[in-house]
Amino acid sequence: MPIPGNPLGKTLVYVLENERGPVLIDAGWEHPEAWKALKAGLTGLGTAIEDVYGVVVTHMHPDHAGLAGRIRERSGAWVAMHRADAEVITHMRADLENPNGEDLGDWIGRAGASPEEQDAMRANDGRPDPPAMPDRLLEDGDLVDLPGRTLRTIWTPGHSPGHICLHLEDRDLLFTGDHVLPEITPHVGLYPYDRPEVDPLGGYLASLERTAAMGVEDAMPAHQYSFTGISRRAKEIIEHHEERLAEVRALLGDEPQTLWTLATRCVWSYSWEKMPPISHHLAVGETAAHLRTLEKRGQARRTGGHPLSYVR
Ligand SMILES: [Zn+2]
Ligand SMILES: [Zn+2]
Repeated sequence: MPIPGNPLGKTLVYVLENERGPVLIDAGWEHPEAWKALKAGLTGLGTAIEDVYGVVVTHMHPDHAGLAGRIRERSGAWVAMHRADAEVITHMRADLENPNGEDLGDWIGRAGASPEEQDAMRANDGRPDPPAMPDRLLEDGDLVDLPGRTLRTIWTPGHSPGHICLHLEDRDLLFTGDHVLPEITPHVGLYPYDRPEVDPLGGYLASLERTAAMGVEDAMPAHQYSFTGISRRAKEIIEHHEERLAEVRALLGDEPQTLWTLATRCVWSYSWEKMPPISHHLAVGETAAHLRTLEKRGQARRTGGHPLSYVR
């Protein structure tokens, strides 16, 4: 299904046959083009949106959960996701309803961005609406309601707190969502940038170790294309983040530097000046996640809260 205007291009939505009606893995972006593609795809398989029995969402991002609510309205399907991502949706909704809540301009200000950079962020704060709340919550090891077949929940936090992979045990293949993709690495960020007690990147690396050790090699990811060699790819992604951790570590010195400055000094696929403001926010979140893992390893230390600053 297309993700209009996004460089990712498309979300791969999977349809699992069973006696009660199709179960979808992920639902795609909420956009008329995506809805049209979903209808056409299901028609091509001899079924329809009205027949959908359930939607299991790998994680709450809009390119995965976006249309889940609309499919449920049409078909009466259940919508399932991991409890931790349902909690994220609850927080997103509370933030939207809080008139005194912080905006992304406030966030990057605390990271050390200038007032001009904060204004540019506020002019571009286009966060999508939170997706529909699930009516079924999944925990690690739970079986998804797929009559006659065995689809097990594998909790792989990192890209989101409640990201799950789904192991179709009767075919021994793994739906990997955004956790393991063949040629790109998913975004792993810390939000808010100084949120205490969580280590998303440390969690992601542990999830990758776990996925590599499963012994399942056939991957059905949510972007790009299906591939064989999950353990090899998971190890490559671990290596990539170890390199990034070393890069961030090498930027640290004895003088405190703000989170914003450290993010601007990292190497990104696009030059910092050419990135739109929202990409600055994501780059700062990703830098913060790497700093948190370094803090946990005793290789970085936070010195200040306003703005957030770090030394080695
Ligand atoms: Zn995602
Ligand atoms: Zn995605």
